[in-house]
Amino acid sequence: MTLKYCQGPKCHTYTTQDRLKGMKGSKTFQTRRRSDFYYGNSNFCSLNCQNDWFGTYGDRAIDHYGRTTEPKKLTEQNAWQKTYDWNSNDDRIYVYLNKITMEQRPLTEAQYRDTNYTINTGE
Ligand SMILES: [Zn+2]
Repeated sequence: MTLKYCQGPKCHTYTTQDRLKGMKGSKTFQTRRRSDFYYGNSNFCSLNCQNDWFGTYGDRAIDHYGRTTEPKKLTEQNAWQKTYDWNSNDDRIYVYLNKITMEQRPLTEAQYRDTNYTINTGE
């Protein structure tokens, strides 16, 4: 089991007992280290640490990966969303619903569960 460190830049400044390490005379508060974390794709031990990271690096990260400068658009071509309903027999039925035209198309359960299956074109 490999342990990893919380990526929060201020994690060590939150002075909880579990972060306190070392013997008397050489005690330090340290960045949390765990096999897994629950926040930010398991990179952060807490929402605070995730927010600290974004506060410190967020603008640079957005500039690096591409800042959104115009609206993205959901059109008739990419507005198909998987959903389900119940028929009169209380069976679950899967459908593709176009959120703009409200057209429905039948969907098999396998297609519904297949995260790669789409009839959308474009983002
Ligand atoms: Zn942390």
